[in-house]
Amino acid sequence: MPFNRAFLTGAELHYLETALASGTLEGDGPFTARASALLNKMLGAVATLLATSCSHALDMSALVLDLQPGDEVILPSYTFPSTANAYALRGAVPVFVDCRPDTINLDERLVEAAVTDRTRAIVAVHYAGVGCDMDALAGIAERHGLRLIEDNAHGLGATYRGKPLGSFGSLATQSFHSTKNAHCGEGGALVINDPDLVLQAEIIREKGTNRTQYYRGEIDRYHWVDLGSSYLPSELLAAFLTAQLENFDVIQAGRMRVWNAYHDRLAEWAADNGVAQPVVPVDRVHPAHLYFLVLPDPAASAGFRRHLADLGVQATSHYQPLHNAPAGLRFGRTAPGGCPTTERVARQLTRLPLYTGLSDDQVDRIVAAVTSYRVAR
Ligand SMILES: *Cc1c(COP(=O)(O)O)cnc(C)c1O
Repeated sequence: MPFNRAFLTGAELHYLETALASGTLEGDGPFTARASALLNKMLGAVATLLATSCSHALDMSALVLDLQPGDEVILPSYTFPSTANAYALRGAVPVFVDCRPDTINLDERLVEAAVTDRTRAIVAVHYAGVGCDMDALAGIAERHGLRLIEDNAHGLGATYRGKPLGSFGSLATQSFHSTKNAHCGEGGALVINDPDLVLQAEIIREKGTNRTQYYRGEIDRYHWVDLGSSYLPSELLAAFLTAQLENFDVIQAGRMRVWNAYHDRLAEWAADNGVAQPVVPVDRVHPAHLYFLVLPDPAASAGFRRHLADLGVQATSHYQPLHNAPAGLRFGRTAPGGCPTTERVARQLTRLPLYTGLSDDQVDRIVAAVTSYRVAR
């Protein structure tokens, strides 16, 4: 059983054929409009700009907020390198804060101590699509005049207190990499919730030109007006993504079934073996992006993955901490107190296979493989 298998809804080929037949293959055609409209509706966003990846959407967020060398951006150490790269590329300093032991999210109780007079933004990464404490983070951002950004790569379809993840930050980013719930192989989006940032984001995405305004007929010619690059995906990718987003319910139902089966059927084994299952606070709805288990110590964790591999189950660890990674040490700074929980979780967390299309029989075999492992005491 592989860890992930990219799911196809069945509509992708038809939409790809439609895009090919239209002859319009560059970006910002009808499928881009369709996918963006679907995302706006799901997220309640002012605008959603499709991008070539979540990494590029994060890069765009640093440009949109005009981050300068020496500015500081608070983010979790337990995340994908792109979350930090985006700001380091502008010369800004990622300031790494530890995660909570329960949700594995940025520990909001540690954020305020990391704020300095150089701090410009806080990036919330919703690990496994379980929302960060957005009320607490929004309060800190408000008190210190900081921008809130959401790296919502995991969180499409999730909510915090009834509101979609991706709708809290001035900006949020989505990933449509093939390991994410909805995908187009490689892709992403910049979600804009602050109307004042739309024009600037459009310029950055269109090579630093106001071409998007020109296409809308708002101006006669377009010019190079600011820094930017080419962040818009081809219509072929937008067509593929449209098929996925239109069938998002099917994708989600399949993932949720597997997640719930693991959660229920592993509970007793987890309790008996000192293993932590995911924690979803009652005011949050998660999107079944990941199913992970945190083993009680590094040796048990390594033994667990070997045991599963021997039984044909591909289970994997996840992020390596950024704060003590070579580039983290070079470009970032660690908040006071360090990131001990991040270091522990990185060594002890294992993710199980989770995708739409995993059969009941396969889930049975994975549950049997997991529960046949005994943690040595
Ligand atoms: C997957 C992921 C990214 C990067 O997404 P790409 O679309 O591959 O660039 C960034 N942040 C997080 C939290 C992710 O999980």
